Amino acid sequence: MTAQTARTLVSFDIDGTLEVGDPPGIVTISMVRQAKSLGYLIGSCSDRPIRFQQELWARLGIGVDFTVLKHRLVDVKALFEAAAYYHIGDTEMDDTVASGAGFRFLRAEAAAHRAWGPELFVAAARHLSL
Ligand SMILES: [Mg+2]
Repeated sequence: MTAQTARTLVSFDIDGTLEVGDPPGIVTISMVRQAKSLGYLIGSCSDRPIRFQQELWARLGIGVDFTVLKHRLVDVKALFEAAAYYHIGDTEMDDTVASGAGFRFLRAEAAAHRAWGPELFVAAARHLSL
């Protein structure tokens, strides 16, 4: 499938990043669903145990492609072929882990989101003619 090579992969940190995290972050579950509806490969990369991550997504009714501990983000890159890899998180550790794994780090912070939000969603939607 040629479409697969153009896929975008988005990894979400949970605490301090997602609105359902502890503490809550700025990334809404609606945004996660939007990424999923655009055909992106999505999943979580968090210090939370895998079981916790799986139960969170099950409770939200969102089928994710991966759930990994933070230091395993590099494995996600190896497992999935995508044109672009993003990790959305709120800490310097997220930045370090993302950069080390070859992901572009997107900070879950309002001002930064104003820049990457349109890039990640609107531009992609236009590209896919959705
Ligand atoms: Mg966090």
